[in-house]
Amino acid sequence: MTKPIQIAVIGSGYVGLVAAVCFAEIGHDVVCVDNDERKVLALESGDTLIHERHLPELLERYRGNKIHFTSNLQEATRASDAIFIAVGTPQAENGNADLSYVEAVACEIARALTSYKVIVEKSTVPVYTNEWIRRAIERNGVARRLFDVVSNPEFLREGTAVQDFLHPDRIVVGADSDAASSLLAAIYAPLTTGAYYARPGAIPGICSSSAPPPLLNTSTKSAEIIKHASNAFLAMKISFINAVSNLCEAADANIEQVARGIGLDNRIGPRFLRPGIGYGGSCFPKDVAAFRSVAEQLGIDFSLLTEVEKINAEQKKRFLSKVRSALWTLRGKRLGVLGLAFKGETDDIRESPAVDMIEMLLAEGCSIAAYDPAAIKRTQHELPASPRLHYVEDAYAAARDADAVLVLTDWREFSALDLKRLHSLMRYPIVVDGRNLFDPQVMHEHGFTYISIGRPAVYPARDLELANRPGA
Ligand code: NAD
Repeated sequence: MTKPIQIAVIGSGYVGLVAAVCFAEIGHDVVCVDNDERKVLALESGDTLIHERHLPELLERYRGNKIHFTSNLQEATRASDAIFIAVGTPQAENGNADLSYVEAVACEIARALTSYKVIVEKSTVPVYTNEWIRRAIERNGVARRLFDVVSNPEFLREGTAVQDFLHPDRIVVGADSDAASSLLAAIYAPLTTGAYYARPGAIPGICSSSAPPPLLNTSTKSAEIIKHASNAFLAMKISFINAVSNLCEAADANIEQVARGIGLDNRIGPRFLRPGIGYGGSCFPKDVAAFRSVAEQLGIDFSLLTEVEKINAEQKKRFLSKVRSALWTLRGKRLGVLGLAFKGETDDIRESPAVDMIEMLLAEGCSIAAYDPAAIKRTQHELPASPRLHYVEDAYAAARDADAVLVLTDWREFSALDLKRLHSLMRYPIVVDGRNLFDPQVMHEHGFTYISIGRPAVYPARDLELANRPGA
Protein backbone atom coordinates (compact mmCIF):
# COMPACT_ATOMS: atom_id res chain seq x y z
CA MET A 1 0.00 0.00 0.00
CA THR A 2 1.40 3.40 -0.97
CA LYS A 3 1.61 6.16 1.63
CA PRO A 4 -1.66 8.15 1.80
CA ILE A 5 -1.45 11.60 0.25
CA GLN A 6 -3.40 14.49 1.75
CA ILE A 7 -5.79 15.80 -0.89
CA ALA A 8 -8.26 18.69 -0.95
CA VAL A 9 -11.08 18.63 -3.50
CA ILE A 10 -12.78 21.99 -4.03
CA GLY A 11 -16.39 21.61 -5.18
CA SER A 12 -18.50 18.65 -4.02
CA GLY A 13 -20.69 18.17 -7.08
CA TYR A 14 -20.89 15.25 -9.51
CA VAL A 15 -17.15 15.33 -10.18
CA GLY A 16 -15.73 16.61 -6.88
CA LEU A 17 -17.68 14.27 -4.63
CA VAL A 18 -17.00 11.23 -6.79
CA ALA A 19 -13.29 12.10 -7.04
CA ALA A 20 -13.15 12.61 -3.25
CA VAL A 21 -14.67 9.24 -2.32
CA CYS A 22 -12.61 7.48 -4.97
CA PHE A 23 -9.36 9.05 -3.72
CA ALA A 24 -10.32 7.78 -0.25
CA GLU A 25 -11.10 4.36 -1.77
CA ILE A 26 -7.57 4.13 -3.23
CA GLY A 27 -6.04 5.03 0.11
CA HIS A 28 -5.68 8.80 0.35
CA ASP A 29 -6.92 11.22 3.01
CA VAL A 30 -9.35 13.72 1.59
CA VAL A 31 -10.97 16.94 2.64
CA CYS A 32 -13.86 17.91 0.43
CA VAL A 33 -14.74 21.61 0.26
CA ASP A 34 -17.92 23.33 -0.84
CA ASN A 35 -19.07 26.90 -0.31
CA ASP A 36 -22.66 25.69 -0.10
CA GLU A 37 -23.04 25.13 3.65
CA ARG A 38 -26.20 23.06 3.23
CA LYS A 39 -24.35 20.70 0.93
CA VAL A 40 -21.54 20.33 3.45
CA LEU A 41 -23.98 19.53 6.25
CA ALA A 42 -25.89 17.03 4.12
CA LEU A 43 -22.70 15.25 3.00
CA GLU A 44 -21.40 15.17 6.57
CA SER A 45 -24.60 13.44 7.61
CA GLY A 46 -24.17 10.80 4.87
CA ASP A 47 -26.64 12.14 2.28
CA THR A 48 -24.93 11.83 -1.13
CA LEU A 49 -27.32 14.39 -2.71
CA ILE A 50 -26.80 12.86 -6.16
CA HIS A 51 -27.88 9.57 -7.65
CA GLU A 52 -24.75 7.53 -8.41
CA ARG A 53 -24.12 3.83 -8.06
CA HIS A 54 -21.57 2.88 -5.34
CA LEU A 55 -21.50 6.44 -3.97
CA PRO A 56 -23.63 5.81 -0.84
CA GLU A 57 -21.57 2.78 0.23
CA LEU A 58 -18.22 4.54 -0.32
CA LEU A 59 -19.37 7.68 1.47
CA GLU A 60 -20.57 5.60 4.39
CA ARG A 61 -17.28 3.71 4.55
CA TYR A 62 -14.97 6.76 4.56
CA ARG A 63 -17.07 9.56 6.05
CA GLY A 64 -15.47 10.82 9.28
CA ASN A 65 -12.25 8.85 8.78
CA LYS A 66 -10.59 9.18 5.37
CA ILE A 67 -12.92 11.89 4.08
CA HIS A 68 -14.07 15.08 5.80
CA PHE A 69 -16.28 17.90 4.59
CA THR A 70 -15.81 21.61 5.18
CA SER A 71 -16.56 25.03 3.74
CA ASN A 72 -13.19 26.34 4.88
CA LEU A 73 -11.14 26.33 1.67
CA GLN A 74 -8.06 27.98 3.16
CA GLU A 75 -7.76 25.50 6.00
CA ALA A 76 -8.23 22.60 3.56
CA THR A 77 -5.52 24.07 1.30
CA ARG A 78 -3.04 24.44 4.13
CA ALA A 79 -3.62 20.84 5.23
CA SER A 80 -3.14 19.31 1.76
CA ASP A 81 -0.38 18.46 -0.71
CA ALA A 82 -2.62 18.48 -3.79
CA ILE A 83 -5.66 20.71 -4.28
CA PHE A 84 -8.09 19.57 -6.96
CA ILE A 85 -10.39 22.27 -8.34
CA ALA A 86 -13.71 20.66 -9.35
CA VAL A 87 -16.10 23.62 -9.41
CA GLY A 88 -18.54 24.29 -12.23
CA THR A 89 -17.48 25.92 -15.51
CA PRO A 90 -20.90 26.73 -16.98
CA GLN A 91 -21.54 28.30 -20.35
CA ALA A 92 -21.45 32.09 -20.42
CA GLU A 93 -23.87 33.98 -22.66
CA ASN A 94 -21.29 34.35 -25.44
CA GLY A 95 -20.60 30.58 -25.51
CA ASN A 96 -17.31 30.84 -23.60
CA ALA A 97 -16.76 28.82 -20.46
CA ASP A 98 -17.54 30.97 -17.42
CA LEU A 99 -14.34 30.64 -15.39
CA SER A 100 -15.33 32.95 -12.55
CA TYR A 101 -15.76 30.06 -10.08
CA VAL A 102 -12.31 28.73 -10.97
CA GLU A 103 -10.81 32.20 -10.59
CA ALA A 104 -12.48 32.74 -7.21
CA VAL A 105 -11.10 29.42 -5.97
CA ALA A 106 -7.60 30.17 -7.33
CA CYS A 107 -7.53 33.51 -5.48
CA GLU A 108 -8.69 31.92 -2.26
CA ILE A 109 -6.09 29.15 -2.54
CA ALA A 110 -3.46 31.87 -3.05
CA ARG A 111 -4.36 33.41 0.30
CA ALA A 112 -3.51 30.14 2.05
CA LEU A 113 -0.26 29.21 0.28
CA THR A 114 2.73 29.17 2.61
CA SER A 115 4.40 25.93 1.52
CA TYR A 116 4.66 24.05 -1.82
CA LYS A 117 1.33 22.73 -3.19
CA VAL A 118 0.19 21.24 -6.46
CA ILE A 119 -3.02 22.81 -7.73
CA VAL A 120 -4.91 20.55 -10.09
CA GLU A 121 -7.52 21.60 -12.65
CA LYS A 122 -10.13 18.84 -12.56
CA SER A 123 -12.89 21.05 -13.93
CA THR A 124 -13.23 21.13 -17.71
CA VAL A 125 -11.54 24.33 -18.85
CA PRO A 126 -10.35 25.91 -22.09
CA VAL A 127 -6.71 25.83 -23.13
CA TYR A 128 -4.62 28.50 -21.33
CA THR A 129 -6.67 28.29 -18.12
CA ASN A 130 -3.65 26.74 -16.44
CA GLU A 131 -1.66 29.89 -17.16
CA TRP A 132 -4.49 32.12 -15.94
CA ILE A 133 -4.66 30.23 -12.66
CA ARG A 134 -0.90 30.59 -12.24
CA ARG A 135 -1.12 34.33 -12.98
CA ALA A 136 -4.05 34.81 -10.59
CA ILE A 137 -2.09 33.16 -7.79
CA GLU A 138 1.05 35.17 -8.50
CA ARG A 139 -0.96 38.38 -8.61
CA ASN A 140 -2.04 37.56 -5.08
CA GLY A 141 1.58 37.78 -4.01
CA VAL A 142 2.52 34.08 -3.97
CA ALA A 143 6.07 33.15 -5.02
CA ARG A 144 6.23 30.89 -8.11
CA ARG A 145 8.32 28.27 -6.23
CA LEU A 146 5.42 27.67 -3.82
CA PHE A 147 3.10 26.02 -6.32
CA ASP A 148 2.58 24.26 -9.62
CA VAL A 149 -0.61 24.07 -11.63
CA VAL A 150 -1.47 20.79 -13.31
CA SER A 151 -4.27 19.80 -15.65
CA ASN A 152 -5.90 16.45 -14.86
CA PRO A 153 -9.20 16.39 -16.76
CA GLU A 154 -11.97 14.08 -15.68
CA PHE A 155 -13.71 11.72 -18.11
CA LEU A 156 -16.31 10.10 -15.84
CA ARG A 157 -19.86 9.65 -17.06
CA GLU A 158 -22.77 10.40 -14.78
CA GLY A 159 -24.63 7.20 -13.91
CA THR A 160 -21.39 5.16 -13.83
CA ALA A 161 -19.19 7.86 -12.32
CA VAL A 162 -17.55 5.85 -9.51
CA GLN A 163 -16.76 2.93 -11.77
CA ASP A 164 -15.44 5.25 -14.49
CA PHE A 165 -13.19 7.05 -12.01
CA LEU A 166 -11.71 3.82 -10.67
CA HIS A 167 -11.57 2.08 -14.06
CA PRO A 168 -10.65 4.85 -16.49
CA ASP A 169 -9.66 4.28 -20.11
CA ARG A 170 -6.75 6.61 -19.37
CA ILE A 171 -5.54 9.13 -16.82
CA VAL A 172 -4.29 12.35 -18.40
CA VAL A 173 -1.81 14.47 -16.47
CA GLY A 174 -0.71 17.73 -18.05
CA ALA A 175 2.21 19.03 -16.01
CA ASP A 176 5.13 21.29 -16.78
CA SER A 177 7.20 20.37 -13.70
CA ASP A 178 8.67 17.06 -12.46
CA ALA A 179 7.62 17.66 -8.85
CA ALA A 180 3.99 18.10 -9.90
CA SER A 181 3.86 15.14 -12.28
CA SER A 182 5.51 12.89 -9.65
CA LEU A 183 2.88 13.83 -7.09
CA LEU A 184 0.06 13.08 -9.54
CA ALA A 185 1.72 9.78 -10.48
CA ALA A 186 1.85 8.87 -6.77
CA ILE A 187 -1.82 9.80 -6.27
CA TYR A 188 -2.93 7.53 -9.11
CA ALA A 189 -0.35 4.78 -8.45
CA PRO A 190 -2.88 2.41 -6.80
CA LEU A 191 -4.72 2.41 -10.14
CA THR A 192 -1.82 2.58 -12.60
CA THR A 193 0.17 -0.17 -10.85
CA GLY A 194 -2.95 -2.34 -10.66
CA ALA A 195 -2.62 -2.67 -6.86
CA TYR A 196 -6.17 -1.45 -6.26
CA TYR A 197 -7.75 -4.10 -8.50
CA ALA A 198 -5.98 -6.91 -6.64
CA ARG A 199 -7.54 -5.77 -3.37
CA PRO A 200 -10.47 -7.78 -1.99
CA GLY A 201 -13.68 -5.79 -2.25
CA ALA A 202 -12.38 -3.44 -4.99
CA ILE A 203 -15.20 -1.96 -7.08
CA PRO A 204 -15.24 -4.17 -10.20
CA GLY A 205 -14.88 -2.77 -13.71
CA ILE A 206 -12.89 -2.95 -16.93
CA CYS A 207 -9.41 -2.57 -15.39
CA SER A 208 -7.55 -5.33 -13.53
CA SER A 209 -4.18 -5.84 -11.91
CA SER A 210 -2.92 -7.28 -15.19
CA ALA A 211 -4.56 -4.55 -17.29
CA PRO A 212 -4.32 -1.31 -15.30
CA PRO A 213 -5.14 2.06 -16.88
CA PRO A 214 -2.36 3.98 -18.63
CA LEU A 215 -1.25 7.38 -17.35
CA LEU A 216 -0.57 9.79 -20.17
CA ASN A 217 1.85 12.62 -19.38
CA THR A 218 1.33 15.69 -21.54
CA SER A 219 1.87 19.43 -21.46
CA THR A 220 -0.76 21.40 -19.56
CA LYS A 221 -2.18 22.86 -22.78
CA SER A 222 -2.43 19.47 -24.47
CA ALA A 223 -4.31 18.07 -21.47
CA GLU A 224 -6.78 20.95 -21.57
CA ILE A 225 -7.36 20.40 -25.28
CA ILE A 226 -7.69 16.61 -24.86
CA LYS A 227 -10.75 17.08 -22.61
CA HIS A 228 -12.54 19.58 -24.86
CA ALA A 229 -11.68 17.64 -28.01
CA SER A 230 -12.92 14.36 -26.47
CA ASN A 231 -16.30 15.81 -25.55
CA ALA A 232 -16.64 17.61 -28.87
CA PHE A 233 -15.82 14.37 -30.71
CA LEU A 234 -18.43 12.40 -28.76
CA ALA A 235 -21.05 15.10 -29.38
CA MET A 236 -20.12 14.99 -33.07
CA LYS A 237 -20.63 11.22 -33.11
CA ILE A 238 -24.12 11.68 -31.65
CA SER A 239 -25.07 14.40 -34.13
CA PHE A 240 -23.64 12.32 -36.96
CA ILE A 241 -25.74 9.27 -36.13
CA ASN A 242 -28.79 11.48 -35.61
CA ALA A 243 -28.32 12.95 -39.09
CA VAL A 244 -27.92 9.45 -40.53
CA SER A 245 -31.07 8.34 -38.69
CA ASN A 246 -33.00 11.17 -40.37
CA LEU A 247 -31.69 9.96 -43.70
CA CYS A 248 -32.79 6.40 -42.83
CA GLU A 249 -36.30 7.69 -42.11
CA ALA A 250 -36.42 9.46 -45.46
CA ALA A 251 -35.16 6.34 -47.28
CA ASP A 252 -37.26 3.88 -45.27
CA ALA A 253 -34.11 2.16 -43.99
CA ASN A 254 -33.35 1.07 -40.43
CA ILE A 255 -30.81 2.98 -38.34
CA GLU A 256 -30.22 0.00 -36.02
CA GLN A 257 -28.96 -2.04 -38.97
CA VAL A 258 -27.00 0.89 -40.36
CA ALA A 259 -25.39 1.75 -36.99
CA ARG A 260 -24.40 -1.87 -36.46
CA GLY A 261 -22.91 -2.00 -39.93
CA ILE A 262 -20.92 1.17 -39.31
CA GLY A 263 -19.91 0.28 -35.76
CA LEU A 264 -18.45 -3.11 -36.65
CA ASP A 265 -15.68 -1.23 -38.44
CA ASN A 266 -13.12 -1.15 -35.66
CA ARG A 267 -11.81 2.20 -36.85
CA ILE A 268 -15.24 3.59 -35.88
CA GLY A 269 -16.49 1.34 -33.06
CA PRO A 270 -20.08 0.73 -31.96
CA ARG A 271 -20.36 3.18 -29.06
CA PHE A 272 -22.12 6.54 -29.27
CA LEU A 273 -23.92 5.44 -32.42
CA ARG A 274 -27.39 5.44 -30.86
CA PRO A 275 -29.80 7.93 -32.33
CA GLY A 276 -32.14 9.86 -30.08
CA ILE A 277 -33.51 13.29 -29.29
CA GLY A 278 -30.08 14.86 -29.06
CA TYR A 279 -27.34 15.15 -26.50
CA GLY A 280 -27.74 17.20 -23.32
CA GLY A 281 -26.34 17.26 -19.82
CA SER A 282 -23.95 19.57 -18.08
CA CYS A 283 -21.00 18.78 -20.35
CA PHE A 284 -21.54 18.27 -24.08
CA PRO A 285 -23.57 21.40 -24.88
CA LYS A 286 -21.30 23.76 -22.94
CA ASP A 287 -18.06 22.03 -23.91
CA VAL A 288 -18.86 22.05 -27.63
CA ALA A 289 -19.72 25.76 -27.36
CA ALA A 290 -16.58 26.52 -25.35
CA PHE A 291 -14.34 24.58 -27.75
CA ARG A 292 -15.87 26.45 -30.68
CA SER A 293 -15.19 29.76 -28.87
CA VAL A 294 -11.60 28.78 -28.11
CA ALA A 295 -11.04 27.90 -31.77
CA GLU A 296 -12.53 31.24 -32.81
CA GLN A 297 -10.29 33.15 -30.41
CA LEU A 298 -7.26 31.32 -31.77
CA GLY A 299 -8.27 32.18 -35.35
CA ILE A 300 -9.25 28.62 -36.30
CA ASP A 301 -12.34 27.99 -38.42
CA PHE A 302 -13.99 25.00 -36.69
CA SER A 303 -17.46 25.38 -38.19
CA LEU A 304 -17.92 21.60 -37.99
CA LEU A 305 -18.84 22.24 -34.34
CA THR A 306 -21.54 24.72 -35.35
CA GLU A 307 -23.11 21.99 -37.48
CA VAL A 308 -22.92 19.54 -34.57
CA GLU A 309 -24.90 22.02 -32.45
CA LYS A 310 -27.36 22.74 -35.25
CA ILE A 311 -28.18 19.05 -35.82
CA ASN A 312 -28.61 18.61 -32.08
CA ALA A 313 -31.11 21.47 -31.82
CA GLU A 314 -33.01 20.23 -34.90
CA GLN A 315 -33.33 16.75 -33.45
CA LYS A 316 -35.66 17.99 -30.70
CA LYS A 317 -37.84 19.81 -33.22
CA ARG A 318 -38.03 16.69 -35.37
CA PHE A 319 -39.21 14.70 -32.38
CA LEU A 320 -41.93 17.25 -31.68
CA SER A 321 -43.08 16.88 -35.31
CA LYS A 322 -43.22 13.10 -34.84
CA VAL A 323 -45.46 13.53 -31.81
CA ARG A 324 -47.63 15.94 -33.74
CA SER A 325 -47.99 13.66 -36.72
CA ALA A 326 -48.81 10.71 -34.45
CA LEU A 327 -51.56 12.66 -32.68
CA TRP A 328 -52.77 15.02 -35.42
CA THR A 329 -53.30 17.99 -33.04
CA LEU A 330 -51.58 18.60 -29.73
CA ARG A 331 -53.76 21.07 -27.82
CA GLY A 332 -55.59 19.30 -25.00
CA LYS A 333 -53.82 15.96 -25.54
CA ARG A 334 -52.83 14.02 -22.45
CA LEU A 335 -49.29 12.66 -22.69
CA GLY A 336 -47.43 10.27 -20.46
CA VAL A 337 -43.75 11.21 -20.36
CA LEU A 338 -41.14 8.64 -19.38
CA GLY A 339 -37.87 10.26 -18.41
CA LEU A 340 -36.69 13.67 -17.25
CA ALA A 341 -32.95 13.18 -16.70
CA PHE A 342 -30.65 14.01 -19.61
CA LYS A 343 -29.78 10.32 -19.79
CA GLY A 344 -30.58 7.13 -17.92
CA GLU A 345 -29.21 6.16 -14.49
CA THR A 346 -28.68 9.75 -13.31
CA ASP A 347 -30.81 12.41 -11.63
CA ASP A 348 -29.08 15.23 -13.53
CA ILE A 349 -31.45 17.36 -15.58
CA ARG A 350 -29.01 20.07 -16.66
CA GLU A 351 -29.64 20.80 -20.38
CA SER A 352 -31.88 17.74 -20.49
CA PRO A 353 -33.58 17.33 -23.89
CA ALA A 354 -36.48 15.72 -21.99
CA VAL A 355 -37.09 18.90 -20.00
CA ASP A 356 -36.86 21.01 -23.18
CA MET A 357 -39.37 18.69 -24.81
CA ILE A 358 -41.83 19.02 -21.92
CA GLU A 359 -41.61 22.81 -22.17
CA MET A 360 -42.31 22.65 -25.91
CA LEU A 361 -45.26 20.30 -25.39
CA LEU A 362 -46.74 22.48 -22.64
CA ALA A 363 -46.42 25.47 -24.97
CA GLU A 364 -48.42 23.47 -27.54
CA GLY A 365 -51.23 23.02 -25.00
CA CYS A 366 -50.65 19.38 -23.96
CA SER A 367 -51.20 18.01 -20.45
CA ILE A 368 -48.38 15.90 -19.13
CA ALA A 369 -48.01 13.17 -16.52
CA ALA A 370 -44.25 12.73 -16.09
CA TYR A 371 -42.25 10.01 -14.43
CA ASP A 372 -38.53 9.53 -13.86
CA PRO A 373 -36.90 7.01 -11.51
CA ALA A 374 -34.57 9.64 -9.96
CA ALA A 375 -34.97 13.12 -11.42
CA ILE A 376 -38.46 14.22 -10.36
CA LYS A 377 -37.29 16.22 -7.35
CA ARG A 378 -34.76 18.21 -9.36
CA THR A 379 -37.21 18.79 -12.22
CA GLN A 380 -39.88 20.09 -9.86
CA HIS A 381 -37.54 22.97 -8.92
CA GLU A 382 -37.30 24.02 -12.58
CA LEU A 383 -40.76 23.07 -13.77
CA PRO A 384 -43.14 23.13 -10.80
CA ALA A 385 -46.25 20.97 -11.02
CA SER A 386 -49.20 22.85 -12.51
CA PRO A 387 -52.72 22.00 -13.67
CA ARG A 388 -51.17 20.70 -16.93
CA LEU A 389 -48.02 19.10 -15.50
CA HIS A 390 -48.17 16.29 -12.96
CA TYR A 391 -45.37 14.17 -11.61
CA VAL A 392 -46.38 10.57 -10.98
CA GLU A 393 -44.93 7.66 -9.04
CA ASP A 394 -44.31 5.17 -11.85
CA ALA A 395 -44.41 4.59 -15.58
CA TYR A 396 -47.83 2.98 -15.47
CA ALA A 397 -49.34 5.99 -13.71
CA ALA A 398 -47.88 8.16 -16.49
CA ALA A 399 -49.54 5.93 -19.11
CA ARG A 400 -52.97 5.94 -17.47
CA ASP A 401 -55.56 7.43 -19.88
CA ALA A 402 -52.77 8.85 -22.06
CA ASP A 403 -53.30 9.73 -25.69
CA ALA A 404 -49.66 8.74 -26.16
CA VAL A 405 -46.61 7.80 -24.13
CA LEU A 406 -43.32 9.50 -24.98
CA VAL A 407 -39.99 7.92 -24.05
CA LEU A 408 -37.49 10.72 -23.48
CA THR A 409 -34.71 9.17 -21.35
CA ASP A 410 -32.94 5.83 -21.80
CA TRP A 411 -33.47 4.44 -18.31
CA ARG A 412 -32.87 0.68 -18.22
CA GLU A 413 -36.06 0.17 -16.20
CA PHE A 414 -38.20 1.50 -19.07
CA SER A 415 -37.05 -1.25 -21.43
CA ALA A 416 -38.36 -3.82 -18.93
CA LEU A 417 -41.91 -2.39 -18.75
CA ASP A 418 -44.85 -4.79 -18.88
CA LEU A 419 -46.12 -3.83 -22.33
CA LYS A 420 -49.43 -5.62 -21.93
CA ARG A 421 -50.16 -3.62 -18.81
CA LEU A 422 -48.98 -0.38 -20.43
CA HIS A 423 -51.29 -0.98 -23.39
CA SER A 424 -54.28 -1.74 -21.17
CA LEU A 425 -53.89 1.57 -19.30
CA MET A 426 -53.63 3.94 -22.24
CA ARG A 427 -56.50 5.72 -23.93
CA TYR A 428 -54.78 5.23 -27.28
CA PRO A 429 -51.86 2.79 -27.48
CA ILE A 430 -49.40 5.14 -29.14
CA VAL A 431 -45.75 5.20 -28.08
CA VAL A 432 -43.32 7.75 -29.50
CA ASP A 433 -39.88 6.60 -28.46
CA GLY A 434 -37.07 9.15 -28.56
CA ARG A 435 -34.53 6.60 -27.35
CA ASN A 436 -35.29 3.46 -29.40
CA LEU A 437 -35.77 1.39 -26.23
CA PHE A 438 -38.21 -1.10 -27.71
CA ASP A 439 -38.20 -3.59 -30.54
CA PRO A 440 -40.71 -2.40 -33.19
CA GLN A 441 -41.79 -5.98 -33.91
CA VAL A 442 -42.57 -6.61 -30.23
CA MET A 443 -44.47 -3.31 -30.01
CA HIS A 444 -46.45 -4.35 -33.09
CA GLU A 445 -47.29 -7.70 -31.51
CA HIS A 446 -48.61 -5.84 -28.45
CA GLY A 447 -50.89 -3.73 -30.62
CA PHE A 448 -49.09 -0.37 -30.29
CA THR A 449 -48.62 2.34 -32.80
CA TYR A 450 -44.89 2.70 -32.30
CA ILE A 451 -42.82 5.53 -33.68
CA SER A 452 -39.10 5.67 -32.98
CA ILE A 453 -35.96 7.26 -34.40
CA GLY A 454 -34.57 6.22 -37.77
CA ARG A 455 -36.67 3.06 -37.96
CA PRO A 456 -39.89 2.42 -39.84
CA ALA A 457 -42.93 3.15 -37.65
CA VAL A 458 -45.26 0.26 -36.85
CA TYR A 459 -49.03 0.51 -36.64
CA PRO A 460 -51.81 -1.83 -35.58
CA ALA A 461 -53.56 -3.12 -38.71
CA ARG A 462 -56.51 -0.71 -38.47
CA ASP A 463 -54.20 2.35 -38.32
CA LEU A 464 -52.01 1.24 -41.18
CA GLU A 465 -54.30 2.54 -43.86
CA LEU A 466 -54.42 5.98 -42.19
CA ALA A 467 -50.65 6.07 -41.79
CA ASN A 468 -50.13 5.38 -45.48
CA ARG A 469 -52.32 8.25 -46.61
CA PRO A 470 -50.51 11.27 -48.09
CA GLY A 471 -49.71 13.89 -45.45
CA ALA A 472 -49.57 11.36 -42.61
P1 NAD B 1 -21.51 20.71 -10.00
O1 NAD B 1 -22.22 21.96 -10.29
O2 NAD B 1 -22.27 19.45 -9.73
O3 NAD B 1 -20.54 20.93 -8.74
C1 NAD B 1 -19.77 22.08 -8.54
C2 NAD B 1 -19.67 22.32 -7.04
O4 NAD B 1 -18.74 23.37 -6.80
C3 NAD B 1 -21.00 22.77 -6.42
O5 NAD B 1 -21.29 21.92 -5.32
C4 NAD B 1 -20.72 24.21 -5.94
O6 NAD B 1 -21.41 24.53 -4.76
C5 NAD B 1 -19.21 24.15 -5.71
N1 NAD B 1 -18.54 25.46 -5.73
C6 NAD B 1 -18.72 26.49 -6.59
N2 NAD B 1 -17.90 27.52 -6.26
C7 NAD B 1 -17.20 27.13 -5.17
C8 NAD B 1 -16.22 27.75 -4.36
N3 NAD B 1 -15.80 28.99 -4.61
N4 NAD B 1 -15.72 27.06 -3.32
C9 NAD B 1 -16.15 25.81 -3.06
N5 NAD B 1 -17.08 25.17 -3.79
C10 NAD B 1 -17.60 25.81 -4.83
O7 NAD B 1 -20.51 20.49 -11.23
P2 NAD B 1 -19.94 19.11 -11.80
O8 NAD B 1 -20.94 18.46 -12.68
O9 NAD B 1 -19.33 18.34 -10.69
O10 NAD B 1 -18.79 19.66 -12.76
C11 NAD B 1 -17.61 20.24 -12.26
C12 NAD B 1 -16.61 20.38 -13.39
O11 NAD B 1 -16.26 19.09 -13.89
C13 NAD B 1 -17.13 21.15 -14.59
O12 NAD B 1 -16.07 21.87 -15.15
C14 NAD B 1 -17.56 20.07 -15.55
O13 NAD B 1 -17.52 20.48 -16.88
C15 NAD B 1 -16.51 19.01 -15.29
N6 NAD B 1 -16.93 17.65 -15.61
C16 NAD B 1 -18.20 17.23 -15.32
C17 NAD B 1 -18.57 15.92 -15.58
C18 NAD B 1 -19.97 15.45 -15.30
O14 NAD B 1 -20.35 14.38 -15.80
N7 NAD B 1 -20.75 16.18 -14.50
C19 NAD B 1 -17.65 15.03 -16.15
C20 NAD B 1 -16.35 15.47 -16.40
C21 NAD B 1 -16.01 16.78 -16.13
